[in-house]
Order: sequence, then C-alpha cells, then structure tokens
Amino acid sequence: MSSIYIHIPFCTSKCPYCDFFSQVGSQLQIDEYVKLLILNIEILGSQKSPILPLQTIFFGGGTPSLLAPKQIETILDHLERTYGFAGDLEITLEGNPGTVDAESLSGFRQAGINRLSLGIQSLNEQNLQFLGRIHSVTQAHESVAAARSAGFENLSLDLMFALPGQNISALGEEISALLNLAPEHISLYGLSFEEGTNFYTRLQGGTITPCDENLYADQYQLLDEKLKIAGYEHYEISNFALAESRCRHNQVYWQREDCLAIGAGAHSFINHGWGERWHIPANLQNYGESLLQGNDPAELLETYDQKGAMKEFVYLALRMSDGIDPEEFKLRFNLPVQQVFSAELDQIKKFLISPSTSGHDRFNIKGWLLYDHLISHFL
Ligand code: SF4
Repeated sequence: MSSIYIHIPFCTSKCPYCDFFSQVGSQLQIDEYVKLLILNIEILGSQKSPILPLQTIFFGGGTPSLLAPKQIETILDHLERTYGFAGDLEITLEGNPGTVDAESLSGFRQAGINRLSLGIQSLNEQNLQFLGRIHSVTQAHESVAAARSAGFENLSLDLMFALPGQNISALGEEISALLNLAPEHISLYGLSFEEGTNFYTRLQGGTITPCDENLYADQYQLLDEKLKIAGYEHYEISNFALAESRCRHNQVYWQREDCLAIGAGAHSFINHGWGERWHIPANLQNYGESLLQGNDPAELLETYDQKGAMKEFVYLALRMSDGIDPEEFKLRFNLPVQQVFSAELDQIKKFLISPSTSGHDRFNIKGWLLYDHLISHFL
C-alpha cells in the first residue's frame, strides 16, 4: 500500500476540547500554506519514494474543507504528477459542517475527493454548543444532504460520546438520529481532557465533571450493540463501517504500511529496515522557512529495531477486529508470533475472543475498553 497524509492546520475557531495542531487562519495564510504544500510535494518527491502509485490520500486537520475546491484540485494534480494514482484510489477529505455548502461539496467531488468525513460530532443542539462547534443540528443534516446530492457515496460521520451529563438514553437518541443519516462509516470519539485545552483547565478548576468510568463503558457497549444491529462492522476500536466501506487509509496506519506525509504537524511511517517514523514539526513559520530554503522539513522521530517493530505490529493489530494475523507476522519477521509473545498473549488471554476461529488473536469488547492498559504488556 502506498499512501499520503496532508495536514491542514487551520480551523474557523478552536474547539475547547481539541489538542490537534490547528489554529484560526486567515484566507491569506491558507493560500500561502497551499503554496508551501506544493513545494513540500516537489521536495518530498525528489527524495523519498514509496511503492507507487498512490492508493490512498487523506486530507486531515484542522479543517481541510476550508480550502477551496480549486486548491484541492491543484494539490491532487501535483500528487498525481509526482507519484501517479492507482485506479481505485481512495481520497478522503475531512470537512466541518459549518464550512461546507452544496457548491463547495460539489467542487470537492469534482476535484476528485471520493470519501468525505464530516465532523458532525453530535445531533443534539445543546451538546454542539457545549463542544464549541460552529455548526447546528440543522447544518449537520444539510451538509449530509448536500454531500449526497454532490455525489458522495462514501460518507463518514463522527460522533462524540461520554459527554458530561449525557446518560444512556440521551446517547441512544443520538445514535438513532445518526443512523437516520445512513452514513457508510462512523468514527467514535469518547470525550477526553487533554492538557493545554480549555476543557482541561475547566476540569482542573472543577467546573466540568467528566463521565464516570462505568457510564463510559456502558455507552461504548451500547454503541457497539446498536451499530452492529444496524449492519455496521465494528472493525476497529473506534470505527464502524458498512460492507466494503472501511477506511482504507486508516488501515494503512494500523497495518504498519508506508504512509508519507506533508504539512506542518504531519507524521509519516516508512518501512526502511524495521521501520522509521518521521514528523514535520508543528510550527508554521519553521515549515515555511525550511521549504523556501529547499529543505525537507521532516525530522526523524524514531527508528525501530526488530523487537520494537514486532511489538508495534501486535498492538496496532489488536486495535482491529481482524486481530493479529500469524501468517503476516511470520512473513514480516520470520518468527511465529505465538513463540515471540507467548507470555504477553497469555497475560491478556481473558480479553481475547476465544476460541479464535481464524487463528487471529483479537480483543473482545472488554479488551478494547481496556486497550491502553492491556497493550502495556507490549510496550
Ligand atoms: S474543528 Fe476539529 S480540528 Fe478544528 S478545533 Fe475543532 S476539533 Fe479541533
């Protein structure tokens, strides 16, 4: 698989829970940034070569839908000329319902975007206000309708849960409203309080009360049950898809495949040796200066040895319902996974689906709920 991620670090306003690298940007800043992205493609194209052609492209952020369709088209033209496009290329764009309309969505579709991920987050007006979102429930509905009219047949919607004061029945209503929109893909986000965010400060000051652990678990299980009944495959801890609608780009991360990246704050992974992780520092000024001097702004973050690569392969695989493929492990590392990690797998066995019909070890729902704790055995 050969993929590229493009980070767009601009938003209309900063949501109080968000710790992604994004800031409020002017039109001028966005226009200048698009020029830098083109330069980044040219410099990267002259230095690193993934296995070509590109099979997935992902515009993430931030709010990529702040770019004009023409700018998306220009970036895609440069990517095609540099790397070539596979026939079944998946091109995702993350959009904020408050920044799109029928015209822009139609323009994105014509520019080549074939998978749209809309940050709906909630279909409850009070929750949207609490989350500091710039869109209303009506706009969420309108953006989905406009996306369908524009020809998007692969639509992903985000839903946040574990919101303060949100009980099981309120979440049930949100799930029903979401299912009425019939997206092909759903991504879940349990509200967390990350250092440096407005919500973190409020949490420290005692003016916000997080959802308790038991309610979080009940909500997660409710989502699992309701979405499965509605025909969705719970294929990754936080992701659900109808048949043939998994996000191919995100699977590249979980399967430890090559993914290049451009844009300030973006991360890439290259299968050199046992693997290398690179990042472009999250600093717009340095990003521009580096590129204008003709330099690749990416910096090496981590080089893996065989043991590190094997551990990462296993704990990333455990994010997915496919679990650990013993044949793929053997192919990559020339060792049987059961032999390398027999003690670790034994320690987590009560959280694995048993008996495993496929021979793939994979977490049950309780294992996914405790994922961060359980993978410490592989760190
Ligand atoms: S729109 Fe998304 S990326 Fe931007 S501030 Fe809100 S949560 Fe963060």
